[in-house]
Amino acid sequence: MKIGILGGGQLGRMLVQAAIPLDIDISVMDKSVDFPTPDIWPYFQEGDFTNYDHVMEFGRTVDAITIEIESVNIEALYDLEREGKVIFPQPHILDIIADKGLQKNFYKEHNLPTSSFILCDGAEIKDKVESGELALPFVQKVRKGGYDGRGVHVVQTIDDLQNLLHGPSVVESLVEIQKEIAVIVCRGRDGNISHFPVVEMSFHPTANLVEFLFSPSNLSLAKQKEAIEISRGIAEQMGIYGLLAVELFEDVNGNILINEVAPRPHNSGHHTIEACITSQYEQLIRVLSNFPQGETDLIQPSVMVNLLGEEGYAGIPVFEGLGEILGMKGVYPHIYGKTTTKPFRKMGHVTVMSNELPEAIRLAQEVKSILKVKA
Ligand code: ADP
Repeated sequence: MKIGILGGGQLGRMLVQAAIPLDIDISVMDKSVDFPTPDIWPYFQEGDFTNYDHVMEFGRTVDAITIEIESVNIEALYDLEREGKVIFPQPHILDIIADKGLQKNFYKEHNLPTSSFILCDGAEIKDKVESGELALPFVQKVRKGGYDGRGVHVVQTIDDLQNLLHGPSVVESLVEIQKEIAVIVCRGRDGNISHFPVVEMSFHPTANLVEFLFSPSNLSLAKQKEAIEISRGIAEQMGIYGLLAVELFEDVNGNILINEVAPRPHNSGHHTIEACITSQYEQLIRVLSNFPQGETDLIQPSVMVNLLGEEGYAGIPVFEGLGEILGMKGVYPHIYGKTTTKPFRKMGHVTVMSNELPEAIRLAQEVKSILKVKA
């Protein structure tokens, strides 16, 4: 079984790393040999995963295809599926998920809990507010192409209407968030669904990127169970094969609401490499290869620190303090091999593990204060 990955960033790189112990035949396509995956892997083909012909040509050289990014050429994936290739996630699911509007409609149609919303164009929003049809505050999200908070605009005041985003949008009610959590589930070819323990996110105050991730979450066990059931329910109702990372909110009233999903390995599952019996990456490789899924239990409480490029530095990265943190117990750095750094670019991550979560958090804070990506 030969597997192809569309996308050669850090997620592709970690998928390849997970495939090596099983000696899986795996190849990767992306635009440049300078990316994180080709940096460690010779079975790489230069090509544009948004280009129909490139995806067709690459897809015909493998048996099963997966993605590390949603914005691939879905039309080519439909055609490859018709030619008998295994495509996980399936193209019709990518079609839904790549469009935040279709995603929200899916939750509504399937009675899955999510914030209320309307679909409209960015240009219509101001009129809707003025006519009283739409009340502040709300969140505008562009339907396609947003990531890491880009393409999300929180409208709290009339002034915020100056900076509305252009294009087809989801306008959803602003949730009073108590906690942001994530659950990664994986649905196998037999329809069995596994799930990883709930993780809790803490965001960087200005960069809108996850700064820390904790597992297990501090959410009550009952709420964790609810979040897991909701996440498994989405995978079941979508009928997806492979990974589904579900981002959820707990609001101030204790409601668990779906924010959005990603049908691929996810930032909120980096820690699973060391902290879980089977990682999210290995789980996807197993499903693609038609092997049974592995156990997903947490081995130890863990914290994941995103290693972002320091503000004020751009160029060839220097990982200041790497030697020092390697001297600490339970600290596992992952450097993605990107050739240049810039402010807030994801350059790596560090997983920190300890017998007790508070100790892991303390260590993670120490790691964060020592390890800096400069240039
Ligand atoms: P992206 O796909 O770019 O990551 P998200 O939809 O996850 O965008 O939104 C980014 C962040 O914006 C979320 O993690 C959350 O902090 C905030 N956010 C998103 N939707 C809402 C909402 N309805 N109410 C309050 N905050 C929200």
